[in-house]
Amino acid sequence: IKKIGVFTSGGDSPGMNAAIRAVVRTCAYMEIDCLGIYRGYEGMIDGDFIPLNARSVNNIINKGGTFLKSARCPEFRTPEGRQKAFDQLQSAGVDALVVIGGDGSLSGAEIFHAEHNIPYIGIPGTIDNDIFGTRYTLGFDTALNTVVEAIDKIRDTASSHHRLFFVEVMGRDVGHIALNAGVGAGAEEILIPEEDLGLDRLLDSLKRSKARGKSSSIVVVAEGDRTTGKNVYELKEYVEQHLPVYDVRVCVLGHMQRGGAPTCFDRVLASRMGVKAVEALLEGKTGFMAGIRDNDIILTPVSEAIKGHTKIDKELIRVSDIMTI
Ligand code: ATP
Repeated sequence: IKKIGVFTSGGDSPGMNAAIRAVVRTCAYMEIDCLGIYRGYEGMIDGDFIPLNARSVNNIINKGGTFLKSARCPEFRTPEGRQKAFDQLQSAGVDALVVIGGDGSLSGAEIFHAEHNIPYIGIPGTIDNDIFGTRYTLGFDTALNTVVEAIDKIRDTASSHHRLFFVEVMGRDVGHIALNAGVGAGAEEILIPEEDLGLDRLLDSLKRSKARGKSSSIVVVAEGDRTTGKNVYELKEYVEQHLPVYDVRVCVLGHMQRGGAPTCFDRVLASRMGVKAVEALLEGKTGFMAGIRDNDIILTPVSEAIKGHTKIDKELIRVSDIMTI
């Protein structure tokens, strides 16, 4: 392998820049070329490339987002689109890829490899922590800290006004962000897809805490939660009807959760995964995703990684239950 192409794809996440930097610097260390591909698969199809050396990635380890930009590219879902992308890579002399993105981006790389036999390694970049084969995805830790900081602020106003806040957080179909940030921010209740809390228990819990003299409450709701059959706005109405003692508000945190400077944890994780990705390619490996387990950086076949999710931490659910006594 003489030249590795690196790109970010799908939703951005904090730590992507740090991962690009790690890939570029490892290539420099190993004395091979590195080509940046702008805008994910879209830029690959357009041949939107930039040569990167160790100095091209100065001062980006601390930046959120991705300086290579990201995109969703419907054309890459077609064989014709992928053929164009392959032709562009061939004319640029790229003979292996590092893809930084979520499960969709990894699926695309897997199909691309099956069709055109171009070696690749994936780095799981998403705040949702919804990829099997890694305890933590890149950006998850930063998103948790962002959510906790936001809820701390919401708590100030909630307690000043005797309010109950439903705070909706991201996480796609899984509740990792909600559960971890909920425990970290001291939420009253946490609604996640993996655990059927039910409306009755939610009401009971809110009644109980009111009876114990709590003047405000925070309920964290995962965006993917369907266990109550209600979204955050419907939950607000329901609680107002059945528990008229609280002034109820809704706060949907939204895209602020994806931004911001990566935490030290995400920067270190990105650096370790970037090194692993390039080393794996140079060892002749392909079709693997770098991940972390028990503080070791491991490789999992992408075909497995995209099939499942990291399981929700049941012990943390138990801890959360105890905390809300
Ligand atoms: P996030 O988790 O933030 O949504 P993602 O990587 O899962 O990130 P997607 O939009 O699912 O985001 O995928 C990113 C891009 O990967 C798509 O726009 C498309 O170009 C490519 N891709 C996804 N799935 C496939 C597929 N089955 N075949 C070919 N390309 C795909």
